[in-house]
Amino acid sequence: MTVHNPFTATVLGIPRIGPRRELKRATESYWAGRIDAGELHAVGRELRSTQLTALTAAGLDSVPVGTFSYYDQMLDTAEMFGALPLRVAGITDPLDRYFAAARGTDEVEPLEMTKWFDTNYHYLVPEIGPGTAFALHPDKLLGELREARELGVPVRPVVIGPLTFLTLSKGIDGISPLDRLNDLLPHYRELLGLLAAEGADWVQIDEPVLVTDLTDAELSLMRRTYAELSGLTRRPAILVATYFGRPGAALPALADMGIEGVALDFASGTTVDDVAAVPALADKLVVAGVVDGRNIWRTDLDGALASLGTLLGSTGALAVSSSSSLLHVPYSLDHETELDPALRSWLAFGAEKVGEVRLLSTALHEGTGGIADELAAARAAQASRTADPRLRNDAVRARLSALGEDATRRAPATERRALQRERLQLPLLPTTTIGSYPQTTAIRKARAELRKGEITGEQYHERMRAEIADVVALQEKLGLDVLVHGEPERNDMVQYFAEQLDGFFATANGWVQSYGTRCVRPPILYGDVVRRAPMTVEWIGYAQSLTAKPVKGMLTGPVTILAWSFVRDDQPLADTARQVALAIRDETVDLQSSGIRIVQVDEPALRELLPLRAQAKQAYLDWAVTAFRLATSGVADATQIHTHLCYSEFGEIIGAIADLDADVTSIEAARSHMEVLDDLNAAGFHLGVGPGVYDIHSPRVPSVEEITTSLLAALKAVPAERLWVNPDCGLKTRGPAEVEASLRNLVTAAQAVR
Ligand code: GLN
Ligand code: ZN
Repeated sequence: MTVHNPFTATVLGIPRIGPRRELKRATESYWAGRIDAGELHAVGRELRSTQLTALTAAGLDSVPVGTFSYYDQMLDTAEMFGALPLRVAGITDPLDRYFAAARGTDEVEPLEMTKWFDTNYHYLVPEIGPGTAFALHPDKLLGELREARELGVPVRPVVIGPLTFLTLSKGIDGISPLDRLNDLLPHYRELLGLLAAEGADWVQIDEPVLVTDLTDAELSLMRRTYAELSGLTRRPAILVATYFGRPGAALPALADMGIEGVALDFASGTTVDDVAAVPALADKLVVAGVVDGRNIWRTDLDGALASLGTLLGSTGALAVSSSSSLLHVPYSLDHETELDPALRSWLAFGAEKVGEVRLLSTALHEGTGGIADELAAARAAQASRTADPRLRNDAVRARLSALGEDATRRAPATERRALQRERLQLPLLPTTTIGSYPQTTAIRKARAELRKGEITGEQYHERMRAEIADVVALQEKLGLDVLVHGEPERNDMVQYFAEQLDGFFATANGWVQSYGTRCVRPPILYGDVVRRAPMTVEWIGYAQSLTAKPVKGMLTGPVTILAWSFVRDDQPLADTARQVALAIRDETVDLQSSGIRIVQVDEPALRELLPLRAQAKQAYLDWAVTAFRLATSGVADATQIHTHLCYSEFGEIIGAIADLDADVTSIEAARSHMEVLDDLNAAGFHLGVGPGVYDIHSPRVPSVEEITTSLLAALKAVPAERLWVNPDCGLKTRGPAEVEASLRNLVTAAQAVR
């Protein structure tokens, strides 16, 4: 059977911050009152029209519309279905109401934010309760659809599906969001009717939640949902998009529904055999995500073509696509003029991925005759990458293979504790901070002047030393017990190390949205990682030279360095993690040799890389923990290792936290009121722990009484010998005055409780 009106080349979604971060700047100007809503919308319109026109010109015959957003697509979905939180309902201006839900105002709290599956993108978590009054507000989507059609774009509206929307929302007032599915579905039905009336041939309904472990009950909700939506008489053809993994049992179930197509992610594990095993797909359009939407490497076109050729035999129609939205990669290599040409030839950013999709679909549907040159160029680039000597460093490989089991083991924790107590002579309930101090205007000014060449490297260096001296003096004055140098020299906790390690390179304009207007520029890890020279010893040694109290060395852990970079795809992540771990290990040893007695290795991203499927989780935790232990077991038992994790809901990783075997772990707890300590106890954790007693996400100064209460609560769960007193994260986003006041209260409270 044939599929009516299929298409052949597409992507699942597109980035929206603008090739030069135009939307970020416009949005921030709007917030600051420098431009009005009309001007902001004009910037949005201009970005959409440039981008959609370019995608059409590049040869896509179906272009996603509606993935543009002023902040976040989950928030847009909540707005479209009348599910913004009640507390913003009083704000009459729609744009201000939307941004209030995203960022809060003086009067209302924003929605929570959390990671979108296992990516580094954060979405806003809608709140669904018994009182959520679903209603359809389709104006944004319909407006963008009309606008695109006027430009001659072959439009395909995109919406987040009801299962994903509700599953990722937070239930409030005692319900689970999926309890409201029946109330929500009529609005999706109405929307599909409106899209049909607008002339949309296809609608893409994103259901990435289908690649996670689903219960039978959830699978039957899926059947009910798609039976109901596909049963409509007047609607576009339905493409259900799965991405970020293999749909597993959800695939045959989905294929049995009366929908017309499925999008599958072949870059995250789905195989051609998965498709062949589902006979019902022979009647459907399969949108094959063979171009990875999440990494920046060129696609192996020959491999992709072979898969596509096989898929032709088991699908009703076949389209080539990116595996996910291109939201997760930078716009285009056009903006990278400084890159080494060889490195550049190995890469494909958003625009280049669109070119690959087009090339593959031409090859598939018209044969390779007309595009032989392009295919040859792609092969040559691929070959140059494989052969490049910079990819391999035999010395590092030899060192790693010579390391035995004992390289990840230290003496038992109790022995270490005795040695460290003897050496450090700290009081009970030692006070410390997580590493960074406020990024002052002086620091930002110095960085800007260095960039513009207005000051020399040496002058910059001097200014950073002055900052460090100030921060050390402040900590002495406040009476903290374990000091830090304040991290003024670090632009970013991953980039700072990537810049000093072989095997990484930086992009000039490779920005990716992290949330809202926040963008990051992940470094690219392309080859074996080698530490050229000590990276932090000079700064931390300088801080230590100013005080008799111990200064804690600050490093970023291997998992976090991988999580916040684009990582090579030519070897297992675990192997890459070991190389990064070795570099960090060498740094800990050098810090120790220079007289540093405590080293903290931060792993705020440990939970982020956790696989979506239960079955894969243990293997990940095993290599992640091994990498951390490799990084931290090179030092003497008398050297104290700290780690810092940026969250308190450990859930499935709680066992792994104990396995890290760090002498002291600081965690976020100010907002979750110490319950986390009971969870840790239940998991048999017996090491030092510093539950945050100062919530750095808020400008509020915690009072001595509050901190005292928190400490007394903590002491019910943890003996005084193991308890540390600290804020719940770094202080770099806070102002100097509130930090000083808060830390003064923190020290006073610790002294009182002692
Ligand atoms: N040491 C880092 C800091 O204080 C930790 C940051 C983080 O947890 N993300 O800024
Ligand atoms: Zn943190």
